[in-house]
Amino acid sequence: MGLVAATASDREVAVRRLLPALLAAFVAAPLLAQHPRPSAAPHHRRAAVPTPASVLGFAPGTERRLVDWDPIVRYFRLLGAASPRVRVRELGRTTNGAAFVAVFISSPANLAHLNELRDQQRLLADPRLVRDSAAADVIVRRGKLFVLITSSIHSTEVGGFFSPLDIASQLASDTSSDTRNVLDNTVVILVPSLNPDGVTIVSRWYNQTLGSNAEGTSPPELYHRYAGHDDNRDWYAFTQAETRLVVDSIYGIWHPQVTLDLHQQGRYGSRMFVPPYLDPAEPNVDPLLLQGDNALGLAIAWRMTGWGFSGIAVNSLYDAWTPGRAFQHYHGAVRILTETASASLATPVTVPAESLQAGLGVDPRTASWNFVAPWPGGTWTLADIVRYQTASAMALLDAVARDRERWLRTSWQVLARATRGWPGWPWAFVIPTAGQNEMALGTLLEILRHAQVEVRAALGSFTLGYERFFPGTYVVVLRQPYAAFAKALLERELYPDRREYPGGPPQRPYDVTAHDLALLLGVRVLAAADSLPVALSAPIAARPPLYRASGLSGGGPGVVRLGVYRSYAVSMDEGWTRWALDSFGVPYESLVDSTIRAGNLASRFDAVILPSENARALLDGLSPRRYPARWAGGLGAPGVQALRDFVDAGGTLIAFNQACEFAIGALDLPVTDAVSDLDATDFYAPGSILRLQLDTTQALAEGMPAQSIAWFESGPAFDVRDPTRVRVVGRFPAESGDVLLSGWLLGAPHLAGKAALVEVRRGRGRVILFGFRPQYRGQSLATYPLLFNAIRTSSR
Ligand SMILES: [Zn+2]
Repeated sequence: MGLVAATASDREVAVRRLLPALLAAFVAAPLLAQHPRPSAAPHHRRAAVPTPASVLGFAPGTERRLVDWDPIVRYFRLLGAASPRVRVRELGRTTNGAAFVAVFISSPANLAHLNELRDQQRLLADPRLVRDSAAADVIVRRGKLFVLITSSIHSTEVGGFFSPLDIASQLASDTSSDTRNVLDNTVVILVPSLNPDGVTIVSRWYNQTLGSNAEGTSPPELYHRYAGHDDNRDWYAFTQAETRLVVDSIYGIWHPQVTLDLHQQGRYGSRMFVPPYLDPAEPNVDPLLLQGDNALGLAIAWRMTGWGFSGIAVNSLYDAWTPGRAFQHYHGAVRILTETASASLATPVTVPAESLQAGLGVDPRTASWNFVAPWPGGTWTLADIVRYQTASAMALLDAVARDRERWLRTSWQVLARATRGWPGWPWAFVIPTAGQNEMALGTLLEILRHAQVEVRAALGSFTLGYERFFPGTYVVVLRQPYAAFAKALLERELYPDRREYPGGPPQRPYDVTAHDLALLLGVRVLAAADSLPVALSAPIAARPPLYRASGLSGGGPGVVRLGVYRSYAVSMDEGWTRWALDSFGVPYESLVDSTIRAGNLASRFDAVILPSENARALLDGLSPRRYPARWAGGLGAPGVQALRDFVDAGGTLIAFNQACEFAIGALDLPVTDAVSDLDATDFYAPGSILRLQLDTTQALAEGMPAQSIAWFESGPAFDVRDPTRVRVVGRFPAESGDVLLSGWLLGAPHLAGKAALVEVRRGRGRVILFGFRPQYRGQSLATYPLLFNAIRTSSR
C-alpha cells in the first residue's frame, strides 16, 4: 500500500517521510485495533473522578447559580489530573487575557498515542498525500474519528457554561459499553467556551443583579470585547483572538471530521433545534456534508426522542448560508448546531403552551414531521437546558462512534473531490500584486493562511484574457482540500430570491447574505477558467500586514480628539468600531451616556462617532424599569442638546448606518431617508454589498477609487433637501441594475441614484452620515479609508 505525495513542498516531503512508519504503526499497534480489550472496570461503575459540584459548590444547572471562568477551568484541570481519559491543553489567551482551553477526551490508549493520531488526521485531511482510495481505506479502518464540541460562544446562553462540565464528567466516569465505545472510536476535543471572557462578564452581571429588577437581563456591555454576539460571525475573517486560536490550534492541526456547537434560542419556540438546516445552503458546501448534517441531526433527534425528550424541531429557523458561522463546511466536517430554548439566564421561566410562538418552518404548538413530539409547556429551567444540551452531545457521540468509518470516509471523500476539482469550477483565482492596497492584499493572504488554503506564486509572466501578469502574481488553484473555502469567499454570489409565498414578503435569512472578501477588502481577484501557462511556486507563507492610518495611527500632538459613543443598550457596531480603531492604533475615548449628557463636548473632542444603533435605543437606552439608574435612559434630551451644541461649536459628528436616523432628527438635518417607509415586500436588503460611486475630488473620499462598495444592512438612503448645506460624497448608481454587487436586494430602483455618504453643515461644524457600515465586522477594509478621512478632516 503505497502512499505518494502528488506535489512537493517542504510540508509534504516531511509527511511523506513519516508515512512508512506511520502505516506500519497502524497495522501493528494493538492499541489501534478496531476492537480494543474492554477496560478492567465492570459495567456502569463510576470511575473515581471529581464531580463538577465538588469544585463549583453546586451541581451544573442549579437555579440562579452562575460562575466565573476560573472555577470552570479549575474543574477541567482537576479532571485531567484525575482521569486517564482526559487531557487539558491551554491553547493561548483570550482578548481579555483568560486561559483558552481545549479538553481532549478519549480512551487512555488513544490519548497515549495522540501524536500518531494527529498524523493520521493529517493524511486524511490531504488526499493528495494518499495515492488511492485503497490506501485511504487502511487509514479509515484503523483511524479514530475526531469530534469537536464547542460551547458558549454566546455568553447569555448560559446553559453552555455548564453542559461541557457534565459532558466531560460523564465521559470520564461512565463505564457502560456505550461510553467505552465512544472513547475507543473517537477523540473528543471539547472547548468548554469559545468566549471565556463572556462567561465572566455575564456571570458577574447576573450575580450582581440577583434579586433585583435587573435579574436575568443582558449585561450593559458587549460580552466579547469587540465582537459581542458577532463573535460567531467571524469564521471566515478570523479577526478575533479566539477565532484564530480555534482555527490555527484545533482545525489546522486536528482536522475534526464532526463538529457540534451548543447554542440557545428564544424561550417561546421549540425546546431544541438540530439539523437538517433550512434552505438555502451556500452552494459551495459539498452535498455529502449537507447530507451528513441531515443524517446526524436526525440521529440525534431520534435518540433524544427515545430518551423521552420532547419539543425537538429539525429543519426550522437556521440555514446554512453564511460561511461566517460554518468554517467546518469548507474543511471537510459536518456541522451540527443545537439551539436549546432559553430561560432568563439562570432564572427559571414559565412558558405556558399557549404562549409558544410559530417561527420559520415550525409551529411548536402542533406536531409535524419535523416536530414530532410537542413539548406541553410549563416551567423551563437552567437544568432543562443543561439536560438537553448534554443529551444532544451524548446522542451525537453515540451515533458517530457506531459509524466511525463512514464519517471518516465522508470527510476524506469530500476533500478528495475538492483536490480533483469540481466540474464547472474555475481552475484558479489569480490575485495580481500590482495596483493593490498592500494592507488589504496582506489581509486576504492572512485569511487564506488561517483557513489553510494554499496560495502559490507565479514563477514567470503569463497572459489571461488580454491582461499580462508578472512573476509573483498570487494563484489559488481550486484543486486543493479546502478549495471550497476560497471559492465561496472569492467569487461573486447572489442570494436566491426567496419569499414566504409567491409574490409575498421576503423569507428572512438567518444572517446577512453577502461574504465576498474580494469586494469587502477591495482586492482585485480574477477567475481563470483553465490551467495557467506558467509554473507555480510551492505554497507561500503569508506575513500579517501592519495596519496604519496615515496621520492618525499612534496618536501624538495635533492628533484628532476622537470620542466613540458607547451605548449601554449594546451595539455590536460600536465594538467593531473600536476594533477598527484599535487594530490601526487610532486613539479615541469611549463616551457613555453620562459623559455626553454632561455637555461641553467641544472643549474635549474634535469628532464624535455614533455607531449603528436605532434611534429609539440611542434616545431611550436601557429601561429604568429593569436596569439601575447608572445604566438606564440612553442619551435622552440632554444628550441630544449636547450633540447639537457640539456640532454648532465646530465639532464633527459621524453617524453610521441606523444611527443616521437619530442624527437627522436630533440635529434637524436637511436630508430625508428615502427608504424608511417602505415595507419589506417593496424594499429589502438584509446585509448585502452594494456599489458605491464616490466623488474623489472631496476630502472625505481622498485616496479612494471612484467605484467602491457599501455594506448595506437595513440602512438609510438619502434625499437632499437643501443642497447649499449638504455635500454628496457617495451615491448608489443611477441604473438600478448596477446597484447590487453581492447578496440580496429587493427594490433596487428605490436606491438607484440616492446619496449614501453625505456631509451636512450645521453651525460651525458638520455631520457626516454614512448610510452603510464602513467598518463592517472588521471586514470591509475597502471602506476604512472613508472612516479615517472623516476623522482626519475633523482636526481643528
Ligand atoms: Zn448562540
